[in-house]
Amino acid sequence: MAMHDRKLNIILFGPPAAGKGTQAKTLVENHGLVQLSTGDMLRAAVASGSELGERVKQIMDRGDLVSDDIVIALIEDRIESSPDAAGFIYDGFPRTVPQAEALDAALTKRDMGIDSVIRLKVDDAALMERIKTRFAEQGRKDDNPDSFKVRLDNYNEQTAPLLPYYAAQGKLAEVDGMRAIEDVSAQIADVLDMVTNAAAC
Ligand code: ADP
Repeated sequence: MAMHDRKLNIILFGPPAAGKGTQAKTLVENHGLVQLSTGDMLRAAVASGSELGERVKQIMDRGDLVSDDIVIALIEDRIESSPDAAGFIYDGFPRTVPQAEALDAALTKRDMGIDSVIRLKVDDAALMERIKTRFAEQGRKDDNPDSFKVRLDNYNEQTAPLLPYYAAQGKLAEVDGMRAIEDVSAQIADVLDMVTNAAAC
């Protein structure tokens, strides 16, 4: 069967520490998708000491969201500079309804659209445990308990409303993010198979 020639656009969705970054890396290796992680892009800006990095550092450290304009510009820039990608995997973006609307508009303009929003479901107690371990091991500033609480609150208030947004478009797929890393990867691979088969028909 002929492969679809339209680029795949997959959103990995879930609360902070749900495992989005880990799973995105597997998708990059196994499916040739380009990972677009706004968190990684912003951390790189902070590490480089750029003007953008200076502007966002404190916001990030306390666990707040940086402005929609900034992350939307970062994403559009990357889409534009990756013309040969088989597709994109969005990790940590969109995080607000205006970001989701901007992404839809950016993709429509380029004759693309979101194929699937894969939601990693993990309960709050497990997230807290994971973040305690990550903070102890890696010392990422925004993993400290106070900042993490802010991140979780922001997720519930600003990001969770995207679930009905994508459900209404029939794009939401749920996977059990409490299982082992390989089991979660297998569930995601099943969703991708369904999406690519549907696109090929
Ligand atoms: P997480 O481990 O919570 O998934 P990320 O690495 O995705 O964290 O993001 C870290 C921080 O970067 C966020 O707390 C926020 O300050 C900023 N950030 C990342 N992506 C976005 C976004 N799409 N909108 C606003 N802020 C963002």
